[in-house]
Amino acid sequence: MKVTDHINKANGKTLFSFEIIPPKKGNSIQQLYNNIDPLMEFNPPFIDVTTSREEYLYIEKDGLLDRKITRMRPGTVGICAAIKHKYDVDTVPHVLCGGFTKEETEYLLVDCHYLGINNVMALRGDAMKHQQYFEACDGGHQFAKGLVEQIQNLNKGQYLHDVAEGHDKADFCIGVAGYPEKHLEAPSLKTDLKRLKQKVDAGADYVVTQMFFDNQKYFQFVEAAKAEGINVPIIPGIKPLAVKRHLQLLPQVFKIDLPETLIEAVEGCKDNKAVRQVGVEWAIQQSKELQQAGVPVLHYYSMGKSDNVKAIASQLF
Ligand SMILES: Cc1cc2nc3c(=O)[nH]c(=O)nc-3n(C[C@H](O)[C@H](O)[C@H](O)COP(=O)(O)OP(=O)(O)OC[C@H]3O[C@@H](n4cnc5c(N)ncnc54)[C@H](O)[C@@H]3O)c2cc1C
Repeated sequence: MKVTDHINKANGKTLFSFEIIPPKKGNSIQQLYNNIDPLMEFNPPFIDVTTSREEYLYIEKDGLLDRKITRMRPGTVGICAAIKHKYDVDTVPHVLCGGFTKEETEYLLVDCHYLGINNVMALRGDAMKHQQYFEACDGGHQFAKGLVEQIQNLNKGQYLHDVAEGHDKADFCIGVAGYPEKHLEAPSLKTDLKRLKQKVDAGADYVVTQMFFDNQKYFQFVEAAKAEGINVPIIPGIKPLAVKRHLQLLPQVFKIDLPETLIEAVEGCKDNKAVRQVGVEWAIQQSKELQQAGVPVLHYYSMGKSDNVKAIASQLF
């Protein structure tokens, strides 16, 4: 079922969902299951699985450095299929512009279509570690909007280069990213919203937000998005803060602000166990307020560990 159908069927009730990260290459999928199992009692209608960008590896060989390319967390579509099969739940693979040609994207989407996976998150991806700015690969999309258009073309039975024998149509429900505190490269929130509107006009069915720790940022964003003519569901993304280092890391990587009360509470913790508890309590307060405001879904960034998301969900669902 599509994410938007789940939302419509819920009839105003807030749903629970979460995002997981594929295990690092060489690890068993069992560790993912161990983290999903405790969350299934909260009936997530869908689970997102991220995609990580390729990385360069430099391997010394005969005194020279040999550059190899690798994906440290492969398997997104396979994991989606495995989870769907094991738990009978819908899955949402994240599809990236970065590192993929349009042809590779088409093959991936055809795999999803044949597997009965009919939700995808269309994302640009970040720059590679050595790059200052994002660069599309030859024949890849520069912005997520292009990816949304390609997916919508497949929904109309239009394949690349018009060489397909038939016109079997996919039926993807498409999610895109939104940024209550603006995307780090955008010159202003207003400009970023205009670009979000372009993604929706290109066929995105819903938006999932970047993490935020102050609900007012989300409420203002939803209002501003409506004023811009964006009328699709905007799902808040919630990350429970987990370690002291997040105080520096999250603002640096995601260009988001942390509220003073949260900073003070974390700084007052004597170890990361206490920080994890502060993170859980903060996320519970955030979630309760968002639920009361009638958000369609509370979507948690689990970062591969489910104990804190379980502690939060057990207070709400
Ligand atoms: C819910 C969520 C899930 C995510 N999952 C993943 C994941 O699985 N893997 C991963 O690698 N990353 C993931 N990301 C991170 C995401 O890839 C980065 O934030 C990336 O930098 C931007 O992606 P986007 O899809 O928002 O890009 P876009 O919508 O393409 O926007 C990127 C930037 O370009 C600007 N822009 C858009 N259109 C134009 C235009 N026509 N001209 C000029 N500028 C333009 C936008 O304002 C923005 O600043 C996720 C982010 C979110 C919020």
